[in-house]
Amino acid sequence: MKILDMYNENKTILSFEVFPPKKTSPIESVYGVLEELCSLNPAYVSVTYGAGGTASDNTCAIASRIKHDYNIEALAHITCVNSTSSEVESVLEEFKKNDIDNVLALRGDVVPDIPPKTDFKYASELTEFIKSYGGFHIAGACYPEIHPEAESDITDIINLKKKVDAGAEFLISQLFYDNNTFYDFTKHCRLVGINVPIEAGIMPVINQKQIQRMVSLCGASLPAKFVRIMNRYGDNPEAMRDAGIAYAVDQCVDLIANGVSGIHLYTMNNPYVARRIIEALGKLL
Ligand code: FAD
Repeated sequence: MKILDMYNENKTILSFEVFPPKKTSPIESVYGVLEELCSLNPAYVSVTYGAGGTASDNTCAIASRIKHDYNIEALAHITCVNSTSSEVESVLEEFKKNDIDNVLALRGDVVPDIPPKTDFKYASELTEFIKSYGGFHIAGACYPEIHPEAESDITDIINLKKKVDAGAEFLISQLFYDNNTFYDFTKHCRLVGINVPIEAGIMPVINQKQIQRMVSLCGASLPAKFVRIMNRYGDNPEAMRDAGIAYAVDQCVDLIANGVSGIHLYTMNNPYVARRIIEALGKLL
């Protein structure tokens, strides 16, 4: 099913992100996680793709399992920074063979020691390529706090418009911890004529190490309320987990009340946390 058709202005959809196991672990190691997550009945599940070739091999197999064994729509990520156009074509062919027709077209990050290939410079070029290849519904990534490499918020949003004009039918945001950042960003998108649905990316923080890693990777800013929670509960894993879940629930309630198209939960392959959030949201979903 075309994911775009799931958006409805009267209801916020909830989707999940999962990642394939590391190359050193067998693919079966993620099956239990998939089963538990799919039993929570998300609108769809997206599967990440390693930009450096790490774990990308399993993206298709996992997406296919989600779609065919659990009857949940799958969104397969695909990156281009380390791929030639013929390598991208073979991945698309594999997706087609497995009946995967929703893809999240990404540039990916340059990985140290792997020089980027030159066929695609930006996700908008990959989007255009997939669009002309045909047979896929395409999504794109967006950054409420600006992509870390962008010159300014203005150029970043102009570049995002190029991606949407190239064929991105809906957008999924990078994680953020202050909803006002997301609301301002959405308003700016509408002002420049980006009118596609934008899903809010929510990552529950369940331990201090995770947040330090996330902030260094994507530069998310942390509101004072959040920092107070970390300072108070950072050394108490169970309390930190519960506070992280409560914070994510609070964000979700506000996003739903504001009528967002969708919430994309970065599950970190943790069904326990996803379940607690869904239970807390109850009839709001
Ligand atoms: P782009 O849209 O190409 O943007 C990258 C930078 O280039 C931005 O600064 C933008 O302003 C600039 N730019 C874009 N177009 C132009 C242009 N025409 N001219 C000049 N500048 C331009 N990474 C993975 O490796 N695997 C994954 O599975 C994965 N999943 C993700 C899912 C989501 C929802 C998000 C938000 C990110 C994900 N990432 C993933 C990370 C992503 O690959 C990185 O953030 C990467 O740095 C940018 O990818 P992009 O597709 O947003 O790039």
